[in-house]
Amino acid sequence: MKKKVLVTGGAGFLGSHLCERLLNDGHEVLCMDNYFTGGKQNIAHLLSNPYFELIRHDVTMPYFVEVDEIYNLACPASPIHYQYNPIKTIKTSVMGAINMLGLAKRIRAKILQASTSEVYGDPTIHPQTESYWGHVNPIGPRSCYDEGKRCAESLFVNYHAQNNIRIKIMRIFNTYGPRMHPNDGRVVSNFIVQALKGEDITVYGNGRQTRSFCYVDDLITGMILLMNTDDSIKGPINVGNPSEFTILQLAQQVIDLTGSKSKIVYEALPTDDPMQRQPDITLAKEILNWEPKVKLEEGLKKTIEYFKNTIS
Ligand code: NAD
Ligand code: UDP
Repeated sequence: MKKKVLVTGGAGFLGSHLCERLLNDGHEVLCMDNYFTGGKQNIAHLLSNPYFELIRHDVTMPYFVEVDEIYNLACPASPIHYQYNPIKTIKTSVMGAINMLGLAKRIRAKILQASTSEVYGDPTIHPQTESYWGHVNPIGPRSCYDEGKRCAESLFVNYHAQNNIRIKIMRIFNTYGPRMHPNDGRVVSNFIVQALKGEDITVYGNGRQTRSFCYVDDLITGMILLMNTDDSIKGPINVGNPSEFTILQLAQQVIDLTGSKSKIVYEALPTDDPMQRQPDITLAKEILNWEPKVKLEEGLKKTIEYFKNTIS
């Protein structure tokens, strides 16, 4: 069945892939963005599609439209960008959630929240399961993002409890791929851009902290599967790739795959940088019948190709 779908943050990295996939699946897509970290270049190839509509709008302001489903992705995701204007980041998560949940209530749409592994903070259990409440510093430099996303989850479950809104909460773990912002400071884009330019590869701390990297195509598949679950499934559900690597291993792999002469240099570890992160995806396997397919090497090769063509 053809659905009308609103994607907030649709001109961003994940949002643009989601819009593309939904259009390919035969749906009508309304992409809303204020272009803070996203851009028209990410969705330029979709503009000629008559079932694609672009709306310049800030999610902190109310918005009304008739749709069947809402994917709420609007929020800067990289530490550099979300710390640039922390109050705005909180407003985007909290007021954005209130506005989109209010819309969902009014038009009786189903709504999915792009939450994050950051709700676990610097985790004390490993790997992280959905039942873990997290270890977040509420006054640290990452708190505008972590606490904003935690409050958004609370809004979602309470709109469901009080108003019976059909909700889906997805906890996204580090995802990478084409259309990441080249200057947003996230580790995969940073290392690839540095390697391609022959600049030093900046490893923060000793590089022994870990992350688990999911390729964007896998993530989008999981997101759509979650939206399509029956109404009893609300989440939160972790979606990410459980293959865990140290940041130093990632740096070495990027150097090997690009054939770069770049050297690794060590810089200070940012405050509250989580030491380890790996999703437990038991629930996603059981409920969504989903698990990631793309191995890090394959995903990195595709991402390197993308950056080769976009930076020069
Ligand atoms: P991104 O920065 O590329 O995309 C975010 C988009 O939201 C951008 O297009 C930006 O312009 C838009 N936006 C920001 N503030 C807005 C506002 N007030 N009103 C309207 N639009 C606004 O980041 P991304 O990686 O695509 O992340 C998308 C979502 O997924 C975010 O909510 C993020 O928190 C979540 N997420 C991403 C990751 C990841 O690894 N990529 C991990 C966990 C969670
Ligand atoms: N990192 C790094 N060098 C960089 C950028 C990031 O060593 O140039 C590290 C960062 O300190 C963190 C990890 O890579 O430990 C992932 O950082 P990112 O900002 O991509 O995501 P997050 O910390 O939000 O998981």
